[in-house]
Amino acid sequence: MTAHVLVVDDLEPNVKLLEAKLRAEYFEVTGANSGAAALELAKEVQPDIILLDVMMPGMDGFETCSRLKADHETCHIPVVMVTALDQQEDRIAGLDAGADDFLTKPVEDVALFARVRSLTRLKMMTDELRLSHATGAELGILTNAKLAEFDTTPSVILIVDDDPDRDEELFSIRPDNYTIIYEADTKNAFSLLREQKVDLIIVNMSLETYDPLRFCSTIRTLSETRLTPVLAMVRQGDTRKLVRSLDVGVNDYLTRPIDKSEMGARIRTQLRRKHYIDQLRASFQVGLELAVTDQLTGLYNRRYLATHMANLFDPAEVEKLPISVLVMDVDHFKAVNDTHGHDVGDSVLRELGSRLEQNVRGMDIACRYGGEEFVLLMPKTDAALASMIAERLREDIENHKITYGDDSNNTIQVTVSIGIATTSPGETTSPQDILKKADDALYQAKNQGRNKVVFAAA
Ligand code: GH3
Ligand code: MG
Ligand code: MG
Repeated sequence: MTAHVLVVDDLEPNVKLLEAKLRAEYFEVTGANSGAAALELAKEVQPDIILLDVMMPGMDGFETCSRLKADHETCHIPVVMVTALDQQEDRIAGLDAGADDFLTKPVEDVALFARVRSLTRLKMMTDELRLSHATGAELGILTNAKLAEFDTTPSVILIVDDDPDRDEELFSIRPDNYTIIYEADTKNAFSLLREQKVDLIIVNMSLETYDPLRFCSTIRTLSETRLTPVLAMVRQGDTRKLVRSLDVGVNDYLTRPIDKSEMGARIRTQLRRKHYIDQLRASFQVGLELAVTDQLTGLYNRRYLATHMANLFDPAEVEKLPISVLVMDVDHFKAVNDTHGHDVGDSVLRELGSRLEQNVRGMDIACRYGGEEFVLLMPKTDAALASMIAERLREDIENHKITYGDDSNNTIQVTVSIGIATTSPGETTSPQDILKKADDALYQAKNQGRNKVVFAAA
């Protein structure tokens, strides 16, 4: 996994030092010497994480962090504040400004890499969701999602701790609209997580009756809890446990003995992020679905494809190349309508839509482009893989007749022609170019007798 890190510090040597350390671990690094430069660069390069110095002349780290978190273009980027001294007040102020974590100078390598890895992984998990949301916002269907400044949403916090002497008083924190559930048994914890919405999970990493690392990594694999934040409680000085916790996907940690105000701030930070993700998800599901789907087939429509492609081909996203595009058109479809009527024609299109969907992977975008023409957008797919997918689809349609109406004996065989094009590495291609290339290839497939896949010439 490579990630892009933005290092912000007013002192050039500090920037250089962190740059060198991170580059040695194959991270991509951009440096900034002031808060103002950081705000600009964050928007421009869209880094995966920001390491932000607290003490800077002009705009200090707290101010910079607040501004990053208030802007919908940067609020999703994790911020780690780098403090000169391990000062308690600084940490609380930073968390209140929306920081995701802290490192103390001089920065210890193990802690640095663990934080960068875990935060960038979590960011990548929400990126897809954000990209879809951005599409919705550009279509005018959704408003830009924001991190709430003060989150007052009622929240459910699950605390998994089998210590009989646990201090239940500890978690009686403000605001009062937190519901706290204690669970000593991880099996019960899992069934609870399946049954009800939990906004934050706090796990004692010294669990006696179960392996807490395994518990945390399982949380990350379940669809219900994949994006639910997890806070680990780790004994002070147990760096090994802490690093491993972060590696299995824990979002943040509390060191025991626990400082109550720091704990409150960390819980608030996690909950704000959780509610931001919930916001993205909910609006995506409700608003977007209606406006961007084709009514006949349930696939995405042409409008969605255009906007999603624009985002995918954005310069900031180019590392996702190669992208393949497949254009499919039904052969002699006019004859189907003429022979069997328009309704049967519609059934055929519906069935072809579901064949297409069955043949695609999660990240692919299947769309009805218009009439009897379909487009499949395949991110991170090279020419060889795209050709294989196209050929499999063409064969599947040729070899399996389509049934229509109530009688299963009513069948039609149709064939399709397919054109494919793939972006070349290092070459900037516009969505229009690549669609045009695929469309030209489709035209050739038709000319070569139909029921064929043709790959666009470079
Ligand atoms: P080719 O092999 O060259 O693609 O021939 P074709 O007959 O498929 O192509 P043509 O473009 O001549 O005809 C497409 C037909 O698709 C004409 C149009 O009435 C029909 N069509 C377009 N949209 C729909 C639809 O939503 N439902 C139905 N039933 N037919 C549609
Ligand atoms: Mg046709
Ligand atoms: Mg056509």
